[in-house]
Amino acid sequence: MSIIVQKYGGTSMADSKCIKNVAQKVVKAKRLGHQVVVVVSAPAGVTDDLIRRAKEVTDKPSGRELDMILATGEQISISLLAMAIKSLGEDAISFTSSQVGIFTDANHNKAKIEEINTSKIMKSLDANQVVIIAGFQGVTKELEITTLGRGGSDTSAVAIGVALGASEVEIYTDVDGIYTADPRIVASAKKIHRITFDEMLEMAGSGAKVLHLRSVELAAKNNMPIHLRSSFSDAIGTFVVDEEDENMEQVLVRGVAHTTNNAKITIANIENSSKNIAYIFKSISDHNINVDVITQNYIKKDRMTISFTVSEDEYEAALALSKKLGKDVKAETVYGNESVAKVCIIGVGMKSTPGVASRVFDCLAQSDVEIDMVSTSDINISCVINQKDYQKAVIAIHNAFEL
Ligand code: ASP
Ligand code: MG
Repeated sequence: MSIIVQKYGGTSMADSKCIKNVAQKVVKAKRLGHQVVVVVSAPAGVTDDLIRRAKEVTDKPSGRELDMILATGEQISISLLAMAIKSLGEDAISFTSSQVGIFTDANHNKAKIEEINTSKIMKSLDANQVVIIAGFQGVTKELEITTLGRGGSDTSAVAIGVALGASEVEIYTDVDGIYTADPRIVASAKKIHRITFDEMLEMAGSGAKVLHLRSVELAAKNNMPIHLRSSFSDAIGTFVVDEEDENMEQVLVRGVAHTTNNAKITIANIENSSKNIAYIFKSISDHNINVDVITQNYIKKDRMTISFTVSEDEYEAALALSKKLGKDVKAETVYGNESVAKVCIIGVGMKSTPGVASRVFDCLAQSDVEIDMVSTSDINISCVINQKDYQKAVIAIHNAFEL
């Protein structure tokens, strides 16, 4: 009998009607002859609400106490789902992470899973029970409760799948898969049937926020296929698999992703020295600000201008810091632009095919989209552009590569 792990997110657990629907799906898998382990998130909105309540009593809740309250959200879901499954005539049992032994490090609010004790899960499966486990939470060896960071129950599900040697992890959500572009922008966007782990990581890091990034990293490391699909239909979704998967369709470009929550900062006309670059980016990283695309332009022999992008929520902090750094390195000016977007073209096929970047640039030029910054990896070409142009850019590239 094969073990399958199913994960249901907050929207799938939103209310009793949704929970009953999930129970039906679980029971169906069980009756097909699988041993089923289910990992769930808190009902939609509950985690946000718990954070709000914590912030109502203090501006700075301690990491430990925040984890104590956040972990309760998932506990609502596991118990209700166990009850709903039992009422359909199958035996089920719910467990918190502490009860199972999902051990993490002690980094509250962003803990990493270190080890999973499978004995309790296996015992219940062998007793013909459906096992329901609270996602997102963990426990330290000292029995302190931790959480994995927002969206972390995808990572719980993959880690549990790996520990149990499951054949695949099904992640049920409110979309039915990954698309070649955002369907709200490109009407002809198609569902991607198979995508590689690396492509998925690039897509997830570039705006397609469907899976928790760490869950894909963990799946890649352990070659655990993920089937991303909708809990509101029976349609096959998107399989996230290894590049060597024989059913993988060979394409040049798998999809176009975009983000609009980018901002750009420019530190203009400073002395051209790597010491300056090192100084600037060391300070930025010391302030825990994440930098995305970086460009360095020479203006004349010994002068240069540095630009970089950050996410919009870090813009104010990054700009204030850059103004201070600008003084230190005697910049002519420091300025920011909040209206930028990033469009990313992703596909493992690019590795072996030259000329993709030039096709992208050509297509943007023909659509009158100015390219501000570019960064590339062997499977991703990212262009920073004016925010007002992003829809035009996504549509043009989607057409140009006949996705
Ligand atoms: N309930 C948690 C959150 O809202 C974990 C998750 O949904 O994956 O972030
Ligand atoms: Mg999620």
